[in-house]
Amino acid sequence: MVRWCLLIGMTILAANQHSEAGDEVTPHVVLGIHGGIGEDKKDMTPELEVKVRAALNAALKAGKLKLDEGGSSLDAIEAAIRVMEDDPVLNAGRGAVFTHEGRNELDASIMDGKTKKAGSVASVTVIKNPISAARAVMEKSKHVMLIGRGAEVFATRQGLEIVDPNYFWTKHQWDSISEIWKQEAAEEAKKKGNCDENSTSESPSLRKPHFGTVGAVAIDKNGNLAAGTSTGGMTNKMFGRVGDSPIIGAGTYAENETAAISCTGHGEFFIRFAVSHEIVSQIKYKKVTAKEAVEDVINGQLKGVNAEGAAIVLDKHGQFTTARNSEGLYRGWITSEGKTQVRLYDE
Ligand code: ASP
Repeated sequence: MVRWCLLIGMTILAANQHSEAGDEVTPHVVLGIHGGIGEDKKDMTPELEVKVRAALNAALKAGKLKLDEGGSSLDAIEAAIRVMEDDPVLNAGRGAVFTHEGRNELDASIMDGKTKKAGSVASVTVIKNPISAARAVMEKSKHVMLIGRGAEVFATRQGLEIVDPNYFWTKHQWDSISEIWKQEAAEEAKKKGNCDENSTSESPSLRKPHFGTVGAVAIDKNGNLAAGTSTGGMTNKMFGRVGDSPIIGAGTYAENETAAISCTGHGEFFIRFAVSHEIVSQIKYKKVTAKEAVEDVINGQLKGVNAEGAAIVLDKHGQFTTARNSEGLYRGWITSEGKTQVRLYDE
């Protein structure tokens, strides 16, 4: 009883402290997911909202099913992320953003909180589900990270599904990169004093980079935590650019002693600030709550350098929370009793 009162008290305290930007702390969560920062609210349409919510709900359902069948937290992470990778509405797998050169290069990682084993792939172009490739690297190779062609050959040898690069092409992402190319051309012409008077495009420097990415954190019946993240990266990235999502300690981290974390946002900053590892370190060494740690990193350290992003955290007690310094964060969570929540902005 005393323990529960304490827990509830601490939960309310943490939620109140950061109510302006973060979600509350929810207990008894077995799976939490995100689908990235997403669209600015002004650009969200009712049709898109229905699709995003459906994708998140389907991912939660797939992950929870694995846990209900007695699967591990890793099984739940892989199942949930595969659903989001297959859904063209999110920036991972099919639906990934385009590089500056007009290709889709995908990154993913997964980490097992029990063993601290991890696997990741980066810059892959033909693996249908990069999260499964990341898991295969963790479980079936002696390495942690494989990139490009090596990752693709490995995935092929593991019998994972290989697709034509065109599989990842989607109209909305193509329109998005095409618009950027147009703006860059207009900017270039302007520099040369050759400006097209009729051009209505805004300067590319005024455009917000598009953020997406999907991720999941889970805890299973044995108390084992796991985390995973998968992404197409940032729109208009240079070919060969790798963000934080496949970097263990940046976009993804899990350890049973503290928490499981998956991030989304401006990857270069998440790498430099070792965001997910910084969060577990604060919990471990500063003895703060997961909520306090994630708020410090996202709304303190990253906001301080104008780095946009968010993180979802599931601690070893099954308490789920998120922090964001962005307008939106597509996110959802499900409790052991199957109670599901999906949110996109401040709701
Ligand atoms: N963090 C990802 C990257 O930098 C992008 C995102 O989260 O949207 O590649």
